[in-house]
Amino acid sequence: MNAFDELTNNFSRLPGIGKKSAIRMVNWLLKQDAAYVQKFAQNLGSLQEKIKPCSVCGTWTESDPCPICSNPLRDSSQICVVEQPQDVSTIEAYGEYKGLYHVLGGLLRPLEGIGPAQLAIQPLMARIRSSEVTEIIIATNPTVEGDTTALYLNKMITELNLPQPPKVTRLATGIPVGGDLEYIDKRTLSLSFRGRSEF
Ligand SMILES: [Zn+2]
Repeated sequence: MNAFDELTNNFSRLPGIGKKSAIRMVNWLLKQDAAYVQKFAQNLGSLQEKIKPCSVCGTWTESDPCPICSNPLRDSSQICVVEQPQDVSTIEAYGEYKGLYHVLGGLLRPLEGIGPAQLAIQPLMARIRSSEVTEIIIATNPTVEGDTTALYLNKMITELNLPQPPKVTRLATGIPVGGDLEYIDKRTLSLSFRGRSEF
């Protein structure tokens, strides 16, 4: 396979990029300044080496713990539980939430073999046990898997039998059923946070 086809194949595997777009990208790159293309390749080459999951919350970071976990101004009494690191970016962009996060790394999908052991659920329970968190905000998407995961987490947190168990809440208002956190606007996300309900 020649270099053009190989790079086209690389691009066409990216989310949301089809073969046509991939060809357009390779053609575009060929016409760009060599320094830009080299820097692009370097950034790509060192991406996984530089950016790792935070050892506390699981979001992508260059420094460990991440800037959110290590910021003393964040409210450590709240942990917002999300499916993926990009959900942290979405919630951060809306700018009102000042607590901490916990990235699950997926949702429970028993049919696809994704059970509790495949997600960062035990690390979350360990965090809850060893900290003075008073509220767990479950911000998984309002899909069947998101709801199942939220219910499971609520059950696990109840079963910890803590003397002062944290309140467990779920984002509700505004996110369309079956919707995705990543694609909702700031105002809707803001309403979802304010209108969150207790289990
Ligand atoms: Zn972190």
